Amino acid sequence: SAAPLGNSVIPIVNKLQDIFAQLGSQSTIELPQVAVVGSQSSGKSSVLEALVGRDFLPRGSDICTRRPLVLQLLQTKCNADGPDEEYGEFLHLPGKRFYDFSEIRREIQAETDREAGGNKGVSDKQIRLKIFSPNVLDITLVDLPGITKVPVGDQPSDIEARIRTMIMSYIKVPSCLILAVTPANSDLANSDALQIAGNADPDGLRTIGIITKLDIMDRGTDARNLLLGKVIPLKLGYVGVVNRSQEDIMLNRSIKDALIAEEKFFRSRPVYNGLADRCGVPQLAKKLNQILVQHIKAVLPGLKSRISSALVSVAKEHASYGEITESKAGQGALLLNILSKYSEAFSSMVEGKNEEMSTS
Ligand code: GDP
Ligand code: MG
Repeated sequence: SAAPLGNSVIPIVNKLQDIFAQLGSQSTIELPQVAVVGSQSSGKSSVLEALVGRDFLPRGSDICTRRPLVLQLLQTKCNADGPDEEYGEFLHLPGKRFYDFSEIRREIQAETDREAGGNKGVSDKQIRLKIFSPNVLDITLVDLPGITKVPVGDQPSDIEARIRTMIMSYIKVPSCLILAVTPANSDLANSDALQIAGNADPDGLRTIGIITKLDIMDRGTDARNLLLGKVIPLKLGYVGVVNRSQEDIMLNRSIKDALIAEEKFFRSRPVYNGLADRCGVPQLAKKLNQILVQHIKAVLPGLKSRISSALVSVAKEHASYGEITESKAGQGALLLNILSKYSEAFSSMVEGKNEEMSTS
């Protein structure tokens, strides 16, 4: 089963990657990084996990994410015979493949303790994890420690400033997409997530608002106005989600069951009628995909001119050799072939032939 994130972008990116492979070029479409920000326990790790569709991140009511986790998803080709392999590999344990995702979670915890100690300490030293799977697109997600105000355990007195600096170092990068996570049971006007995202992205061009914990709002309240952007407007808008509760985690409830429960939640609440495009993890994935497609469209012209100028320089080189030998002619034909394939992919994308890819 494909992860929610990537269903629609995978075919385009694959097509282009194939073309680049033929070119023998290292150049490829670099997708923007996606980072989650927000206060501690707002549900950041839960949202990332739901997007990836696998259970492997430390989550909980306490401070769990204490080092930045740079999660590189890498698409592998499907296996014709055996089952599709999915595994993780850490930079600090090269060559060791983790096929058991709960073992990945334990290793993240152990590696966090090694660097940041066992008593709530926080470190800005990254943990780098690659997930290889046929069901993902090549993208980097960053799970970050949440903003906390009061130092606990081994945390220094300036913990809040340190965490803010750490978060900013990721989200100030102009290509970084920011998922600003605020729980629905807190006041949006006091949202740490929106505040820090606003510092990094004042025009709101790369910030998506995510409202978690819709299931545990005060009786008689709902998130309709939040999701409609009537409380704090956001250019890219908001998506409301229901992740697994602490109890669900203790009961080992699966991501699949959680997605079914989330769908049922929204279906059974008339107040969210008509807001289907702003409700649920699958909608968030769709929104992200659309933004990624926009990004690909934006970078394509640059790639095209790079390929064209490469062609021109090859042609010049040919001319300098004088007689075109057979192999040189072959090379020229290959390049032409590549260019026409490239143009084909390019135009079908720009025209948005595939409905899923269309962003209008
Ligand atoms: P993080 O610190 O922001 O990464 O937050 P986590 O993902 O670790 O979640 C913190 C706690 O909130 C965990 O106990 C989660 O089970 C719980 N949680 C997260 N999202 C939701 C939600 O939508 N509904 C409910 N009921 N609990 C949630
Ligand atoms: Mg976390």
